[in-house]
Amino acid sequence: MSSVPDITLNNGVTMPQLGFGVFQVPEEETEAAVTTALEAGYRSIDTAAVYGNEAGVGRAVAASGLRREELFVTTKLWNEQQGYDSALAAFDASLSRLGLDYVDLYLIHWPTPARDRYPDTWRAFEKLLADGRVRAIGVSNFQPAHLQRLIDHFGVVPAVNQIELHPGLQQKELREFHARHGIVTEAWSPLAQGALLTEETITRIAERHGRTPAQVVLRWHLQLGNVVIPKSVTPERIRQNIEVFDFALSDEDIDAITALDRGMRTGPDPDTFN
Ligand code: NDP
Repeated sequence: MSSVPDITLNNGVTMPQLGFGVFQVPEEETEAAVTTALEAGYRSIDTAAVYGNEAGVGRAVAASGLRREELFVTTKLWNEQQGYDSALAAFDASLSRLGLDYVDLYLIHWPTPARDRYPDTWRAFEKLLADGRVRAIGVSNFQPAHLQRLIDHFGVVPAVNQIELHPGLQQKELREFHARHGIVTEAWSPLAQGALLTEETITRIAERHGRTPAQVVLRWHLQLGNVVIPKSVTPERIRQNIEVFDFALSDEDIDAITALDRGMRTGPDPDTFN
């Protein structure tokens, strides 16, 4: 079984570099998918209030027999609950659906700049952290200006920014901003939801390594230093996606994949998504 390396966050908490995402997994399939992932060796699970499947994640965790401290559970605050009091209430509701007494990482799901509530929301996140109800706090889909505003006005720098990132959208500027400020880059839709897996560059490299295209793309992320959270409901793919720690891409492979960068956003633009 693959052993996933840890990444150390800016407050010393460690998080597995590869985890399991459950976006678009129906609630009734979530327990089975997460159970398969835990059996395959995943220890980090990425959900969100808006996915509607926190309870399924919680059931799989409870049934796993794993000790709580062996697991790393991330969930996210949905946009409509931004604001100080509403964020605290939404956190309680997420925790209760998960059946946990703390989460490892709590993220603001989108900045929704037109709402202009993410600073107030961050204040609530700092309180959750100070109260020991979360081990780390971070954000998702934040652009440099949104991050800078938090850095300028608050004591806690986000531990993580979870952003759309894959070979078609490599986010060089954000990754450099993160590196300067000690923020970990976490890639969502690391496989571009499957859209890049038939590209000639990727399939050629995969063939040469005797690996699948998905494994090559995940390996590219890991060698860049990203945290990745591929999603699948297919047991064979769930297992395949974690078997990526026993081979390495060459500098040439990395360069060929870097050349695929082309501003290919599959999700909303964070500056205008409100
Ligand atoms: P991914 O890039 O992980 O791709 C998932 C898709 O790829 C599914 O259709 C899956 O099919 C397919 N797939 C997975 N593994 C393989 C494989 N080995 N070979 C071929 N196809 C494969 O997309 P997601 O959008 O789900 O992103 C991953 C996670 O990131 C989410 O689940 C969520 O946790 C997070 N996320 C966060 C967002 C945010 O705003 N913060 C936004 C979007 C995602 P199948 O399931 O049928 O096997």
